[in-house]
Amino acid sequence: MPIFPEVKERLLKKKICMKCSARNPWTAKKCRKCGSTDLRPKKMGKKMK
Ligand SMILES: [Zn+2]
Repeated sequence: MPIFPEVKERLLKKKICMKCSARNPWTAKKCRKCGSTDLRPKKMGKKMK
C-alpha cells in the first residue's frame, strides 16, 4: 500500500504528551488528558518498512 504525502502528513500531525503519552491534536497547546504542556511532535521512525 503506497503512502500518500497526505496520509504521511496526517500521521505527523500529532503531539504526544511526555507525561502520560496521550495523543493530542497537532493544534493542542496542552495535553487533553493530564493538562501538561510538555508535548512533543510524534516522531516518524526512519526504520519504517
Ligand atoms: Zn498528558
